[in-house]
Amino acid sequence: MKVPRELGYGSSRKRDKIYAENDPYLPPKGKGLAGVVICKDCTAVYHNKKWFLDAKLYEGKKRLKNINWVICPACKKTKENVPSGVVTLKGDFLKQHKQEIMNLIHNEDVRSKKYNPLKRIMKINEKGDGIEIFTTSAKLAQRIGSILFKAYDGEVEYKKDVNAKFIRVEWRR
Ligand SMILES: [Zn+2]
Repeated sequence: MKVPRELGYGSSRKRDKIYAENDPYLPPKGKGLAGVVICKDCTAVYHNKKWFLDAKLYEGKKRLKNINWVICPACKKTKENVPSGVVTLKGDFLKQHKQEIMNLIHNEDVRSKKYNPLKRIMKINEKGDGIEIFTTSAKLAQRIGSILFKAYDGEVEYKKDVNAKFIRVEWRR
């Protein structure tokens, strides 16, 4: 079903539920990981029950003894190719403004990772006349759709699965 404009987004009351509760890639609620934990792929540091992608924090922590080198949930999703969101971009306007649009999306990825390294873009595929962006977070995919719509208008459509663990976003102009 095609939802015109941003209807699918605004009309959804459950949109806040899209946060990663019940996400099997995250540690159980309340149970933190023990000791100094660092992701060996992206250097994210687990600190006070949260992940941080911060060069300074990493430099400080990596000198400590007994580091538990792991693969963080975002890198695990990337390795196993299990996205939580897919954003598809299409249309002639996209072709004409591709660089500008991709810059906007890149900036959002940087911003998102800084805030929470588990919410990031894992892969970008150009296929045919469209671009597919895979994210580790449904919320980030939803945000990219929303940002494009705000910046460039066009049409955006959101399709969530029942538990809102996965979202498919399509933006076209
Ligand atoms: Zn990582």
